[in-house]
Amino acid sequence: MADGFSAGRIVHYRSYFGRELQLVAPARVVRHDDAGLLLWLDHAAPSWLAVLPGHGHPRDVPPDEWPAGGWPLVPVPLPLPQSTLILVPPDAGYAVWWLWRPDGPIRPDRFAGWYVNLERHALWDDGEHAGVDSLDQELDGLVDPDRRWHWKDEDSFAAKTGQPRYWSAADAVAIRAAGESARALAAAGAFPFDGTGRDFLPDPSWPQPSRPVPAGWRRPPALTEL
Ligand SMILES: [Mg+2]
Repeated sequence: MADGFSAGRIVHYRSYFGRELQLVAPARVVRHDDAGLLLWLDHAAPSWLAVLPGHGHPRDVPPDEWPAGGWPLVPVPLPLPQSTLILVPPDAGYAVWWLWRPDGPIRPDRFAGWYVNLERHALWDDGEHAGVDSLDQELDGLVDPDRRWHWKDEDSFAAKTGQPRYWSAADAVAIRAAGESARALAAAGAFPFDGTGRDFLPDPSWPQPSRPVPAGWRRPPALTEL
């Protein structure tokens, strides 16, 4: 496809929650084609993370207690239990993360299912630096290796619906519908739940990326909602 990110490129994965930046991590492009952008995210990659008092998550802090100007980001290792593949499909209200059991190697027999992150996303490319912006929408789907679906964080999603930092009631219907569309793909065993990527092995020659430099990722959000 034209203008896709080239394989091997390190791009900035920026995650927003409640319209505030909460994570910047370096991710490696595996491929970028009509199916979407496929990224490899090393679980210990040096990253930037919003660290809250008590090490909580922004979801648990009322927005009127959030600092003006956003959360301060601090340099830390990515707090993920395992490395992951992330598919960012074009024109979809979700991204799909491949899960493997933590505390061990990535191997096909250690595949643990998929995480469907309901989100809005957009890609950006400033030349030397490029990335993907993801606006998290709290509701998620967990898909077992045998493709059974489980909703996650439904109560928190409902509690945030209608709040100015989050989404309207109408948006909530669309967000859940995006989840239902992913659920239908999973139930049908269709891409990306068709076995693609389950045998993925990261190239052992890939060096761990270095920490993204703020001069590269401190740029306006690519999402119009932000
Ligand atoms: Mg989520």
